[in-house]
Amino acid sequence: MRSVIDAIGNTPLIRLKRASEETGCEILGKAEFMNPGQSVKDRAGLFIIRDAEKRGLLRPGGVIVEGTAGNTGIGLTVVAKALGYRTVIVIPDTQSQEKKDALRLLGAELIEVPAVPYKNPNNYVKVSGRLAEQLAKTEPNGAIWANQFDNVANREGHIRTTAEEIWQQTGGKVDGFVSAVGTGGTLAGVAIGLKAKSAAVKIAIADPLGAALYSYYTSGELKAEGSSITEGIGQGRITANLEDFTPDFSYQIPDEEALPIVFGLIQEEGICVGGSTGINIAGAIRLARQLGPGHTIVTVLADFGTRYQSKLFNPDFLRSKSLPVPDWMETEPSISV
Ligand code: PMP
Repeated sequence: MRSVIDAIGNTPLIRLKRASEETGCEILGKAEFMNPGQSVKDRAGLFIIRDAEKRGLLRPGGVIVEGTAGNTGIGLTVVAKALGYRTVIVIPDTQSQEKKDALRLLGAELIEVPAVPYKNPNNYVKVSGRLAEQLAKTEPNGAIWANQFDNVANREGHIRTTAEEIWQQTGGKVDGFVSAVGTGGTLAGVAIGLKAKSAAVKIAIADPLGAALYSYYTSGELKAEGSSITEGIGQGRITANLEDFTPDFSYQIPDEEALPIVFGLIQEEGICVGGSTGINIAGAIRLARQLGPGHTIVTVLADFGTRYQSKLFNPDFLRSKSLPVPDWMETEPSISV
């Protein structure tokens, strides 16, 4: 490999044992936590930067500005470091400390802003857009806004790589694909890529509580209720990455359904992932039940679990959100020396 960039993508497809046994389907998880930045967003980071280079927008030493829940910032920064660019990352202060630490460690310039809704001009996405405009005028090597939500280089990355890999890895034997939506790059990109191979592939969205897309795809109304502790997912509008896309099925997944799946994967299968992956797998289980036994369903293992040690795997945090705490999380070691 010439650089870390070549280690992005071509992730393994791992059979999820319990989910498969419970449904009589083959439920497979694309191990995106094995990317160098430990999440599915390395692909978006790479394609957004390569697209900007092709358009002649990035000069050596140039700055890439982005508003992100963390993973896109990490992906962009890994790629930027390898190619000689800088990153300025705007993140809502509600996101996990571990993601902020990773960003600082990788050398991103991190700006934390209060978490406010998209319609507020101080929303992190809008702050990042304004900052990019400003830095484009003042930075000696220029600055660009990655704009992951409305930059379709993001979903293009999933059409060209994730969907293609899933098709190859399953030998074309894939009946369904499910994922949650942050920007929609993963879901719409894989949907477009797989449907181009076979129109019979069913696509489902797994939406957390507090997001508006389940309501949009089932009733035409962008309406959100409830909340979720998952990070990086939950969209309230139709981003450019979601345009011209409609899922075949829509599921709304409460945290109470998703989190036990994450805890079970760690304890029983040695697979350590974050909360959005629980939403994804819960969605895959629902699609498996809808299609019936014997089908192959693929979903995304979106990022690595240690990124949420202080929240998802912290009993005090779970209790503060009135979520059940698994016994093992508080069990003392049984062996002493
Ligand atoms: N899971 C996690 C942990 C993420 O960070 C993201 C991206 N924000 C997603 C899922 C959703 O991916 P996408 O932006 O492609 O919809």
